[in-house]
Amino acid sequence: MAVTDGEALAVLHRVFGFEAFRGEQEAVVDHVIAGGDAVVLMPTGGGKSLCYQIPALVRPGTGVVVSPLIALMQDQVDALRALGVRAGFMNSTQDFDERRTVEAEFLAGELDLLYLAPERLRLDSSLNLLSRGKISVFAIDEAHCVSQWGHDFRPDYLSLSLLGERWPEVPRIALTATATHATHREITDRLRMPDARHFVASFDRPNIQYRIVPKADPRKQLLTFLREEHAGDAGIVYCLSRNSVEKTAEFLSRNGVEAVPYHAGLDAGTRAAHQARFLREEGLVVVATIAFGMGIDKPDVRFVAHLDLPKSVEGYYQETGRAGRDGLPSTAWMAYGLNDVVQQRKLIQSGEGDEAFRRRAGGHLDSMLALCETVRCRRGQLLAYFGQEPGARGCGNCDTCLTPPETWDGTVAAQKVLSTVVRLQRERGQKFGAGQIVDILLGRRTAKIIQFDHDQLSVFGIGEELSEAEWRGVVRQLLAQGLLAVEGEYGTLVLTGESGAVLRREREVPLRKEPKKPAAARSAGGR
Ligand code: ADP
Ligand code: ZN
Repeated sequence: MAVTDGEALAVLHRVFGFEAFRGEQEAVVDHVIAGGDAVVLMPTGGGKSLCYQIPALVRPGTGVVVSPLIALMQDQVDALRALGVRAGFMNSTQDFDERRTVEAEFLAGELDLLYLAPERLRLDSSLNLLSRGKISVFAIDEAHCVSQWGHDFRPDYLSLSLLGERWPEVPRIALTATATHATHREITDRLRMPDARHFVASFDRPNIQYRIVPKADPRKQLLTFLREEHAGDAGIVYCLSRNSVEKTAEFLSRNGVEAVPYHAGLDAGTRAAHQARFLREEGLVVVATIAFGMGIDKPDVRFVAHLDLPKSVEGYYQETGRAGRDGLPSTAWMAYGLNDVVQQRKLIQSGEGDEAFRRRAGGHLDSMLALCETVRCRRGQLLAYFGQEPGARGCGNCDTCLTPPETWDGTVAAQKVLSTVVRLQRERGQKFGAGQIVDILLGRRTAKIIQFDHDQLSVFGIGEELSEAEWRGVVRQLLAQGLLAVEGEYGTLVLTGESGAVLRREREVPLRKEPKKPAAARSAGGR
């Protein structure tokens, strides 16, 4: 072991120019160099690549890296070649000659690393080729793609279990940044790596400050946030739709923040140009759909902002994780409101997929909502979600720690909302969205109230003690807690199985107080 230890460290210095290993890297590298299988869970930016690159350089033969990120292979290989590493790749973007060259290099033992798209391993021709060369290690990157429960599922990953059967003597290392306990188990099962050693790095990113503010006028809120805390900083703003990506990028540019859009609807040239600018320039903001960011390695991203709710905690963690890879203070900022809940619930209901899929998507959303509505430390909640032990006290670097939210007994308010929904349905046979319910509670005589005679309902005007924003907050939290549900393409509100207990006064409904002003915590100065 001592010999390989020394060699690994020498490669780290000589090839990559780094002083020392980080966190679990050394243990992983030693284990794989000695021929052991490994499952590595490390957050984005944790330094997963070295965990297989160094064994590939130390062990004799070529390290074969399976990665779904075809678009990045060329960049990865170029970056390695610049360091003097003999690297190549094989995927569908290559022409015949290019592939032949790489094949020849591999067979001649002239490659340290060979990147492959997973679909290659379904082809007999590729498997035969691999059999004719010498392989030092198999690395399976983004290993969570093997999980059918996750949103990145790739059927081709299922065939990777054969690697262990065909090459029992070659160590395998599976790596991911996304893993709850369930995904973790699935990776081990489906890749058939029962004897692998597991290396689980902490998912905590202490330099990222987490903040979730109530959504009022999101673009303006974003602009204020950027001006006050991140003027001139590089960052990513995530939006759900291409349209809102375009509009937000325009809005920022008009207001003196240099911003470019990025989404799958732009042509490849524009996308590549915007990505290249983001990597190269210091203070550019990219406004993007979630199509942007996978595999992007820019250490000084100072903030990640969400103008729309991510679909899952995994997604949120991965996207926010692109901030602060250099370890310096960074901010994960999100604006979240009632419409996010309605929209996401609607998307799940009207989307494709069977009942089981909907239930799972609903579960993912519920966890995300719980994170938004929590009155506890957000970091603690995130870590607990990933099965890690949060500290007993709060982190001191998230909005709920910095400005603890107040709670109030929302039982009566909840009953008012629910009984309005019940009245409409029982007495009129009608269903309405949140806007109309709130107008009824506030006793507003709008055109739509008059049109439907809703001022004649006994519940009309029974909620004047709260403001519109507060009522929307109540509805949002009832939706988040599953005490109210959304139905159909118009997002009408309906009761759930749990609503009855509230109406019958059998349970209380603690709610989070809506801050009068969006909680602007102190500037992103870390802890
Ligand atoms: P991941 O794949 O886990 O997201 P990377 O492997 O891309 O992370 O590494 C993230 C960044 O950290 C890269 O810029 C990488 O060069 C750098 N890095 C990784 N390990 C070390 C180390 N031991 N010392 C210094 N920098 C490192
Ligand atoms: Zn906290």
